[in-house]
Amino acid sequence: MIGTRPAGQHTVRQHNAALVLGAIADGPGTSRAGLSAATGLTKATVSSVVDRLLGADLVAEGEPERRVGPGRRGTVVSLSPTGPHGLGIEIGVDYLASCLVDLTGTVRAEEVRYADNRTPRVFQRVSAFLRKARKQAEALGVPVAGVGVAVPGVVESSSGLVRLAPNLGWRDVDLADRLGETFTVANEANFAALAELWHGSALPDFVHVSGEIGIGAGIVLDRALFEGVRGAGGEIGHLPVAPDGPPCSCGANGCLERMAGQEEILRLAGAETVDDLISALESGSEAAVVAVATAAGHLGVGLSTVVNLMDVPAVVLGGTYARLEPWLREPLLAELERRVPSTAWSPVRLVRSSLGTRAAVRGAAGAVIRAVLADPEHYLTTHWPSDQDARGR
Ligand SMILES: [Zn+2]
Repeated sequence: MIGTRPAGQHTVRQHNAALVLGAIADGPGTSRAGLSAATGLTKATVSSVVDRLLGADLVAEGEPERRVGPGRRGTVVSLSPTGPHGLGIEIGVDYLASCLVDLTGTVRAEEVRYADNRTPRVFQRVSAFLRKARKQAEALGVPVAGVGVAVPGVVESSSGLVRLAPNLGWRDVDLADRLGETFTVANEANFAALAELWHGSALPDFVHVSGEIGIGAGIVLDRALFEGVRGAGGEIGHLPVAPDGPPCSCGANGCLERMAGQEEILRLAGAETVDDLISALESGSEAAVVAVATAAGHLGVGLSTVVNLMDVPAVVLGGTYARLEPWLREPLLAELERRVPSTAWSPVRLVRSSLGTRAAVRGAAGAVIRAVLADPEHYLTTHWPSDQDARGR
């Protein structure tokens, strides 16, 4: 990323700030001497960087837990609990969710509001919801470093434009323009996969799939999200699993989403809601068990394509699929075993996500924090333009 140009003063500062803050994030409660050892920077450089981070409340000083040996008692530094927070907003088809996280990724406030968002009034609604979330941050006395917005659609990574969100009826929607603010916009399934990477099962390579009204998936390879060339990659909801099957909302036929999405499972099971479906499954209803097994078969066909193509060793079930996991597991694994040759020596790991239905909004908030941690210098210069004043402390 730094390229082949000689490193300028700013690049060095940027690099050192990221290095020191990263070491503090990895080892909270470390002394300046410890940070110097961890980063390979001189103590003087570490001290100068830490002072700047202290000035912007990115880190906070505390007393060491115990004194080791005689001599000067050094203070230790950790990420500041009152420092910049990330705000996540999720625009679901039938709800809005918000989530405020601190620098460690801990959730400080969250809110869900149920309403059908398939209306032109959705933008006013999001705007009001966003204001309310900002007020929550204000009440906690913490600054918001940025806002991540999760949407159920295809987002162009270069422009942040929502190219298509069929379940909301959106095409080429510029949220920044509509709401008069800059955001980090991404597909909800991608944010959910990132939340799983940061706070979930700690696997480095997996495909995260969650089934609600649509089927969202995010592929993580070597701890990084695979987005494809333009940001539309990993959209497995429209993989054909029954090419001559019933029409899908996208215009094609027999897509995975159409064959194994929540609405199709409920229809096959004759259930109104997911709660009803779970009760039916628990009481052993054959229609419910068959409906889930049928969906699991289609899901296995779709996922086998992903596993065969990408050689990804694990599947994480999120959202509604996490709740259905006890009934999905066996038929899904059987289908994968049948269709993925490598399972003969290396079975696909099937994991149930522990993050529940709020993974996407948590990922949206976390993305803001990750950006601050990856480039604190950018945060310092944009949010603390006068941080020169803080350097003398
Ligand atoms: Zn489709």
